[in-house]
Amino acid sequence: MSDIRFDGRVAIVTGAGTGLGKSHALELARRGAKVVVNDLGGSVSGEGGSLSAAESVVREITDAGGQAIAHGANVTRIAEVQDMVDQTLKTWGKVDILVNNAGILRDKSFSKMPLEDFQAVVDVHLIGSVNATKAVWEPMREAGYGRIAMTSSSSGIYGNFGQSNYGAAKMGVVGFMNVLHLEGQKYGIKVNTLSPTALTRMTEGLIPEEAAKLMTVESVTAGLVYLVSEDGPARTILCAGAGGYAATKIYETPGVYLAPEDQTPEKVAENFNKIVDPDGQQEFEQGGQQTFKFVEYAARHFGVK
Ligand code: NAD
Repeated sequence: MSDIRFDGRVAIVTGAGTGLGKSHALELARRGAKVVVNDLGGSVSGEGGSLSAAESVVREITDAGGQAIAHGANVTRIAEVQDMVDQTLKTWGKVDILVNNAGILRDKSFSKMPLEDFQAVVDVHLIGSVNATKAVWEPMREAGYGRIAMTSSSSGIYGNFGQSNYGAAKMGVVGFMNVLHLEGQKYGIKVNTLSPTALTRMTEGLIPEEAAKLMTVESVTAGLVYLVSEDGPARTILCAGAGGYAATKIYETPGVYLAPEDQTPEKVAENFNKIVDPDGQQEFEQGGQQTFKFVEYAARHFGVK
């Protein structure tokens, strides 16, 4: 298999001053991409800010012979994000790749969580991804080429105690991907989602030391780089950590049809085991397929063709 390269490609990586984003930016640059290293430079909970982290990643890239620029846009502010994309277009004429990676944590059980902390986390992960994607969407559509990666988390896909804000935002980006996939595919735009697990300042102290040594950011970046490559997949949730790679998939059970006289909560309860039975489950490509399936059940019942 030939090397995956990004020569001539322009990539924006948000939250690339440290952790996973830094690793993504370094690897994309090493493989030939011109990289915009975005970072607000705040704390894990999103306080403070400085361009120095992004600038130091840029230095690392340019010292190795690559091309990169730093931008301190706060992804929650569309004007700052637009300025970053405008500067990218002015400098390099296009944006081929967007990696939505920036993130913060404000963990608390839901009963103790101030709504401001819920909002702040949704703003960075979900609205931040929306802002950056909005700013690159028209240039990508016009160019007929784009690769966009969202960053989700097992905390959203499966749940994690104390992370209702984070979980909601991380599943939000999956829904965002599903729709963008449908709207972008005819313009050559592929959208995917990474669900990483790695040792970074965000997970420091949460992972046992022995396991932490295996959970390198580089192992996750290998998956991300494939997701945003020219021949990469579309609409895939790629999970990566400690050298393990898997895909999260959403399936729907065949379920049951209940005739009008049986459309009662009691009959739903009676049929619940059949409703949740995974035998024959299907993966859908868009929401309408579910509606169609149900209407077909009813049509069959009433003998309508
Ligand atoms: P990190 O804290 O090391 O990096 C996050 C970066 O985002 C920081 O450099 C921070 O300054 C930047 N950032 C935060 N708010 C920003 C904003 N408003 N605008 C621009 N930049 C901003 O954390 P990480 O572990 O590298 O996480 C990267 C992504 O991966 C996040 O989206 C995180 O939720 C996700 N994730 C990480 C793990 C893990 O195991 N590390 C697991 C699941 C998901």
